[in-house]
Amino acid sequence: MFKKILVANRGEIALRIQRACRELGIKAVMVYSEADRDAKYVKLADEAVCIGPAPSGLSYLNMPALISAAEVTDAEAIHPGYGFLAENADFAERVEKSGFTFIGPTPENIRIMGDKVSAKQAMIKAGVPCVPGSDGELPDDPALIKRIAKAVGYPVIIKASGGGGGRGMRVVHTEAALVNAVQMTKAEAAAAFGNPAVYMEKYLQNPRHVEIQVIADTFKNAVYLGERDCSMQRRHQKVIEEAPAPGIPRKLIERIGERCVAACKKIGYRGAGTFEFLYENGEFYFIEMNTRIQVEHPISELITGVDIVRTQIMVAAGEKLPFTQRQIEFKGHAIECRVNAEDPYKFTPSPGRITMWHAPGGPGVRVDSHVYNNYFVPPNYDSMIGKIITYGDTREQAISRMRTALLETVVEGINTNIPLHQDLMVDAKFIEGGTNIHYLEEWLTRRNPSKR
Ligand code: ADP
Repeated sequence: MFKKILVANRGEIALRIQRACRELGIKAVMVYSEADRDAKYVKLADEAVCIGPAPSGLSYLNMPALISAAEVTDAEAIHPGYGFLAENADFAERVEKSGFTFIGPTPENIRIMGDKVSAKQAMIKAGVPCVPGSDGELPDDPALIKRIAKAVGYPVIIKASGGGGGRGMRVVHTEAALVNAVQMTKAEAAAAFGNPAVYMEKYLQNPRHVEIQVIADTFKNAVYLGERDCSMQRRHQKVIEEAPAPGIPRKLIERIGERCVAACKKIGYRGAGTFEFLYENGEFYFIEMNTRIQVEHPISELITGVDIVRTQIMVAAGEKLPFTQRQIEFKGHAIECRVNAEDPYKFTPSPGRITMWHAPGGPGVRVDSHVYNNYFVPPNYDSMIGKIITYGDTREQAISRMRTALLETVVEGINTNIPLHQDLMVDAKFIEGGTNIHYLEEWLTRRNPSKR
């Protein structure tokens, strides 16, 4: 096992990884930008290294600074968390070339999955069902593009091969709008992702977002840890997640989970990963794979009892998965609310000093947050300041515990989206379960029609 790991991230996930290291008796080196100097996990760290000024380009995305921090502290491995460099194949490669273990998949696998066209092709080969669409990248010839769209069937969605974060997508309803839309998406993709390649998919009208968590070791053992429903989204960003996904037959989940496991074995996948699917009319359609730990991993931990971050570290150290698929039991229900420092109605970011912080507690309540009384939320990064996660024997109990937890939570000095979560936890359709990816946006429009 490693003696020392460098945590190349910030915020709640940095703290999450630090905790896993402590539990395993591993020293964790924390890195921080000048804006994160006062983070508690930095103050309580075994060792901490400043890697640069506040802008992430100069700190959390600064590869040479991160690698030299690992060198000067004699760390053996680097955990990238999520975001920043977690899915950067070049970084993974540089980490390994510098003699450290990258706690994640191989650079090759990150590269294949990072490009959506090659990811889809790999999944089709591995027998994972995908959204029907173009056979790879779209050609330039307008006549050919029209023919492909006709075969796929309108509406279609044009997506950037290098896209991410919900950007670089355009829905097209008619042939008249097609060629222009392809050209615009290409130009945007070239500017935003440095890669003009786009592809086409059938646009599913009312899908749910359901994803499968997997974890694999370097001995070709792979296990799926169930599914998560992440359909509650705003601007393609997840707001609430839950596991299991309400109303989807176990048999279907097993079948798709087994496909994901087979795909992992086929591509030689190692570490934690998530296969994202759209789910409509009883069918799963692969959209992309995330080759890292995800924000919403705790809900899977709660229903399976598996510590995913700990397992990531163990398999990276060359250990075998400590469980088989048959040993994984799915029990109870878990819900996660992402707490963001933002206006709950207008969604404008609300960084600043938290004058009062009181976290909820009690049975079945987990809070993953790096925040404390008098903590200053820097304006430089993502607005998420923590996650409230509740667990219950039933979905009803998990929701009821979430209501209590949200009521107990006190955050003063800044705005948060807790009022939004409180409203959603009493919404009849949410309580019924199984809402689609458009539900939250439509709900927000109904609540405030002028805000569109
Ligand atoms: P990103 O990497 O930018 O997150 P994804 O491919 O994961 O992009 O898609 C993000 C979201 O966009 C999905 O969760 C879904 O809401 C919507 N979306 C993507 N592809 C389709 C499709 N074929 N039909 C309908 N909605 C889609």
